[in-house]
Amino acid sequence: MSLSFRAPLLFVAVLLFSLVSSTPLQAKPALLPRQQPQNSTLSVCSPLLNNLGSPTVLTPFEFEFRDAASSAWNLYNTLYTPTCIVHPRTVEDVSRVMKAIYDAGGVKYAVQAGGHSAMREWDTTDGGVLISFRNMANVSYDPVRDTINLQPGIRWGEAIGRLEPLGVAPLGGRLGDVGTGLLLGGGLSYLSARHGFSVDALVAADVVLVDGRVVTANATNEYSDLFRALKGGANRFGIVTRYEVKAIHVGTTEEKMMVGGSIVYDNSTTETLLRATANYVNNVDDPNSSILVIIGATLANNTVSPINIITFFYNGTLLPEGRANPYHEFMQITSLAVAIGSCSYAEANAVLGSGGDKGNGQIFGASAFGSAEYEISQGLAKDADESFEKYMNAYRAFNKFLDKAKGTPRPTPTGTPTPPIWPPPGFPIFPTFPAPKPPPVPTPPQYPGPFPTMPLPPIATSTIPGSTPTPFPPAPTWSQLTSVPPPTFPTTTSVPIPTTTPGPQTDAPNARRQETSSTRGPPTWSFPSSSTLMFPTPVPYPTPSTTPRPVPVQPISFIDDPEEDGISAALLAFTPVMKSQIEAGRRAGGNMMDPPLANFAFVQFHVTMPEWLGIVPKRVAEGRREVLNEMPPSNGLPLYMNECDAEQNVFETYGQYELLKRVYQKYDPTGLNVRFMKGPMGLGPSAKADHGRP
Ligand SMILES: Cc1cc2nc3c(=O)[nH]c(=O)nc-3n(C[C@H](O)[C@H](O)[C@H](O)COP(=O)(O)OP(=O)(O)OC[C@H]3O[C@@H](n4cnc5c(N)ncnc54)[C@H](O)[C@@H]3O)c2cc1C
Repeated sequence: MSLSFRAPLLFVAVLLFSLVSSTPLQAKPALLPRQQPQNSTLSVCSPLLNNLGSPTVLTPFEFEFRDAASSAWNLYNTLYTPTCIVHPRTVEDVSRVMKAIYDAGGVKYAVQAGGHSAMREWDTTDGGVLISFRNMANVSYDPVRDTINLQPGIRWGEAIGRLEPLGVAPLGGRLGDVGTGLLLGGGLSYLSARHGFSVDALVAADVVLVDGRVVTANATNEYSDLFRALKGGANRFGIVTRYEVKAIHVGTTEEKMMVGGSIVYDNSTTETLLRATANYVNNVDDPNSSILVIIGATLANNTVSPINIITFFYNGTLLPEGRANPYHEFMQITSLAVAIGSCSYAEANAVLGSGGDKGNGQIFGASAFGSAEYEISQGLAKDADESFEKYMNAYRAFNKFLDKAKGTPRPTPTGTPTPPIWPPPGFPIFPTFPAPKPPPVPTPPQYPGPFPTMPLPPIATSTIPGSTPTPFPPAPTWSQLTSVPPPTFPTTTSVPIPTTTPGPQTDAPNARRQETSSTRGPPTWSFPSSSTLMFPTPVPYPTPSTTPRPVPVQPISFIDDPEEDGISAALLAFTPVMKSQIEAGRRAGGNMMDPPLANFAFVQFHVTMPEWLGIVPKRVAEGRREVLNEMPPSNGLPLYMNECDAEQNVFETYGQYELLKRVYQKYDPTGLNVRFMKGPMGLGPSAKADHGRP
């Protein structure tokens, strides 16, 4: 069949599809469009199909459509049915799509890169045009400019893995499956303290504007305002088709230029851990340091299994001694498991797993807590103790939420509750992390998994929340840990970069000679590697599965609480941001978040629903709101776009909100983006309008 016949056929076919979908006999309500395709959308999709052809443009009748429409990480974002899905191969393809949308006076559209947005419909669309970047997923290193070019469809794990043999990496996130959309929201990596938000490393970007024009924006050309607005402006300022970012010289896997890993604690440590976190935020200002603190819980059958985990990486081959060690306080807290050692940047980025598990509804919410010094200077707290109270408030609200959201026990065949498992299927953080086995008393938890030879401290005999734990013998000291002989890590295979021809030795600053593992001598163990950690081999990066997944059976909507439906997991995560990170951003020309020059912590509240539950129970939605009310951000601090809830007005918290609004007016004077694409509120005439809610 020639292409010219396809467009009218598409029109008829989609209409038929719509009719079928509205009959009561259809079996899978969740997967059918709730909003029927409008003629205007069809009038955009049909010529696109005609011009770009299949499979670049997919319609609901093509075999691959359902998989393409449901490739997002968040289950809720897999339940919408676009009218067509475009997988562009070039910037010209993207330009054509935007021009078609613009010429039609606007139709609903969405952009998807790595698909990890937790916000409903920010990376998919119900009845609109979805532009998905899976066919534009290259990465290359330019040794002359000492920069990395990323196409938007690449994921951080793959980009880092492919560049690893060259000893360079982009700043990205901390989990491999996440994609480049992270840059537009800021980006927090293990190297942020030195280099700023990941997007602060942006050198240039190719952007398709709302009317289809393609521009290259950098810090000094006529689009420098757009360039700056991209640093935090999310999906509002155009579609980025190429990111050129500074290459960070992180070394190869063999060179192991970092030290770090994870420590797992039971929940009797929570208050101490939160104090250590607050102290870190208050006192640490080491640009080599990074830490992520997680107060988490998994839930099953009315039972909550709490667990706390920190992951930290130090950008250096040795940790500073004694109190200069930024993690000193955390390492004094009695832990259940320690897995620390020398590692490379690529290995550090694989420690939390890929984060690629799909099939669960996910809900985010964000806050930001200032250091005691900041809070006192702003009159928000009178002393450090009062400033610390907000951590405890958040924790209390978190516990209240768990209680409310745990659901009622389902009867099991034996009549005994099924013990919860760690991690539950689809738990986004630490998907391969070892599990403490419930029940917590009186048997000490066992930790199977990748710590077989680790010198574990003895385990408490009681972990009942609120009970007095038996005093622990002291945890092993750092020097005890470091006396263990260096581990043998699995050898890493170098993966050639298909699209890059790294030049010979160049004059670029810090440019690294291309070497393979066979040309290099044995690695030097400058850090006495205590490691008992088996870092997952970061390359080659697995291709995302295309196996058809089960179909959820409930439509996405807020419904009355089904009593049994509890949540599957929840966490509070703290990422300290140091002055050095803020200064790095300012040195790079500034971003839209533009926080005050003070240490603070981004706080993320994250809820994972049971697999294939395509609803948000009212109880959970309300509980989420209560938690966010109980942990408001310290005045003057920005919220983090990538960890927020769609109902939070993140732009409004930005230091450069006024500038952001002006630049938006300039590049999208008709407001096409805020009228037709879901994304952060705050740039349109009203929060309701630009949030896309009815
Ligand atoms: C498991 C997990 C781990 C995470 N870890 C981190 C972390 O360590 N550090 C961190 O900073 N964040 C982290 N995040 C948050 C993450 O940065 C955001 O979810 C981010 O938006 C994901 O980008 P994406 O490309 O994967 O997602 P997508 O959903 O594809 O994109 C996110 C948003 O950006 C828009 N967008 C994407 N590409 C473009 C483009 N080319 N042009 C215009 N708009 C575009 C989309 O429309 C969407 O609104 C994590 C999230 C998850 C789920």
